[in-house]
Amino acid sequence: MERDTILLVDDSEIICSIIKDILESPDLHIEIAHTGEKGIRMARELRPTLILLDIIMYGMDGYETCKILKKDEETKDIPIIFITGNNDSNSLLKGFEVGAADYVSKPFIAEELKARVKVHMQNIKNQRKLQILMEELRELAITDSLTKLYNRRYFLDKINDLVKMDTIFSLILFDVDYFKSINDTYGHNAGDLVLTGLSQIFKLILREEDIISRWGGEEFMICLPNMAVEEAFKVAEKLRLEVSKFEFQYEDNTFHCTITGGIAEYEAKLPVDRNITKIDFALYTGKSSGKNCCILA
Ligand SMILES: [Mg+2]
Repeated sequence: MERDTILLVDDSEIICSIIKDILESPDLHIEIAHTGEKGIRMARELRPTLILLDIIMYGMDGYETCKILKKDEETKDIPIIFITGNNDSNSLLKGFEVGAADYVSKPFIAEELKARVKVHMQNIKNQRKLQILMEELRELAITDSLTKLYNRRYFLDKINDLVKMDTIFSLILFDVDYFKSINDTYGHNAGDLVLTGLSQIFKLILREEDIISRWGGEEFMICLPNMAVEEAFKVAEKLRLEVSKFEFQYEDNTFHCTITGGIAEYEAKLPVDRNITKIDFALYTGKSSGKNCCILA
């Protein structure tokens, strides 16, 4: 388990050692600073999960320290709990105004201090989890779960962006030949293996800027930015050849598979679906004339 750090900023050594005694545990580490300036430096270096900050200190006081921490991009999200001797509502209010998340009053009740710290630590952890979850959701929304390639919707968004930027590009649409018979002969896991294997081959050979998507069941659409169709045809042929040479291994079986491709240069003056129909037709022509070939639209 990851060990959390709390930064404790208080000019009193006695207070620091009392708090340290109360809070420190195997999964919670306490770092101490005795001035606001040092506290700010340490906060930047250590990125603690939480800061406990004394209000009345020699030199820079807690309010001032808090203001600086809250202005700094690197430390602004760290929750700050004020340690206060004066319970009057004005000083508490001022604490919240400068950005404190909470306060604890001296003298401490150990259980109260622990409970408040725990609540804020839990909050910050939940926020982090939520952030990770959001990133995962975004990833899920734009990729195909099996091949990790972009999905059709994201691919269409990307080519739409290229059109807007007046970038020329070519498209290749590949379909796996006799995919049904691969599934029927070796099982659906073998079929999945073919799809992920093809994705790997495409990624390996294509450029960083090329956009590869899983278009449908066993179809892949590839966008080659800044590439005229003659060049795209060569790329498609290279991919087709590499795939045909590749030996798939599933359980005790070894087999080959081939792909058929349609290639077209995207015509920005035509709507998207017309462009897709054109390339679909080229693919269909390849399929009906023996498969394992590439056809220019
Ligand atoms: Mg003090």
